[in-house]
Amino acid sequence: MGQLQMNNEQFYKDLIQKTMDEVSQEIINIKATTKPISPDNAIGRLSRMEALNEKSINEASQRNLEMRLLLLNQALKRLKDGEFGECLICEEDISEKRLKVMPEATQCISCASRTS
Ligand SMILES: [Zn+2]
Repeated sequence: MGQLQMNNEQFYKDLIQKTMDEVSQEIINIKATTKPISPDNAIGRLSRMEALNEKSINEASQRNLEMRLLLLNQALKRLKDGEFGECLICEEDISEKRLKVMPEATQCISCASRTS
């Protein structure tokens, strides 16, 4: 795993698992706030529109969180395989500063800014 020291493996394992717990909790929170929208007319047309809007925003963030969970899972696998922290594009080491904020990152900062 490049310049990453072996004792960092446990650090990133803990970090990824902690992040996965947080993301799972956020998904639970979003699911709890996404109430089914009543077709009841008493709710009024405008507030029904607002409710629908809010519902689609919540559903979008839920999808993003689920995607992040998937990426974190893959990061955990790369950690086991000794590939963690390597840029998939240029094969350079991803900076630790970046990995600490985004352990699921698969590209170094320069590749990520080129492709996005
Ligand atoms: Zn790169």
